[in-house]
Amino acid sequence: MNRDGRSRTRTYAAGALALLAFATACGDNGGGGSAAPAATKNASAAPQPSGGAAPAAAATTSGAAPAEGDAAAWAKWNLKPLAPAPAPPTDKPIKLERTGAVPVFSDVKTSDKVVFITLDDGAEKDPKFVEMLTDLKVPITMFLTKDIVKNDYGYFKPLQALGNHIQNHTVTHPVMSKLSADKQKSEICDDQAALTQQYGTAPLLFRPPFGDGANTPMLNTSVQQCGPRAIVLWRESMQIHDMQYQAADKKLKPGDIILAHFRGPKELKGATMTQMFGELLARIQEQGFSVARLDDYIQPPAS
Ligand SMILES: [Zn+2]
Repeated sequence: MNRDGRSRTRTYAAGALALLAFATACGDNGGGGSAAPAATKNASAAPQPSGGAAPAAAATTSGAAPAEGDAAAWAKWNLKPLAPAPAPPTDKPIKLERTGAVPVFSDVKTSDKVVFITLDDGAEKDPKFVEMLTDLKVPITMFLTKDIVKNDYGYFKPLQALGNHIQNHTVTHPVMSKLSADKQKSEICDDQAALTQQYGTAPLLFRPPFGDGANTPMLNTSVQQCGPRAIVLWRESMQIHDMQYQAADKKLKPGDIILAHFRGPKELKGATMTQMFGELLARIQEQGFSVARLDDYIQPPAS
């Protein structure tokens, strides 16, 4: 009980921090109309990983020492290899139910020295990032906003083929607590429908833009009505070279969920998506953490 109370307080704080952090940056992406770089044309031509084999292969080798080829891949991106993630827990720390209120979480209870990377919105569609993730096989979870990705749904398919799941982040990226219940529902349900149609699998997780309204009963009900079975916040927010930490000691903790964005030079003061992501991996590596797949720590509802 105590623990629940504490984590609820913490998620409120997360939402407030998130609002501050995003007031400038995330707003730029809001309309979605600005994100139509010529580079998106190349994205669909980016090499598709052969078949759906990649995720399965990654799963069976997880926990193994990095192979020779992996070391070369990290060197190619001027990075030190991350420690391989431990085997996924058999008893999942987060268990989702098929009905009822959805849980709100910003980290995962685990003693594994792992963190989870989430990438939001979908504005920047840099083919180099697909190449980077294909090389490094670092797991990510994508929270995509329909109006920001609809000009190139295909960009995210090779990332999905690497075993990375696509989750719900509304249609227009609004401040949810300012909307009526009906509007909230259309924001979530319409993104759910579009992403399910495009990517062939229904999002299980929802993230409100800016973390806003995450702990309100109205938003919880709206989420329930549209299909996702959890609301996911974060503990750290990646900027350009380092993270903003909610924790006063500015250190990663086991099970932390990290927020980052599909952003490019316009939002990153000239830095590219791959530079930002490389810096994120370096900060994680320096603290001795691995990156695990969020889905490996979540038990989906029994069907
Ligand atoms: Zn967002």
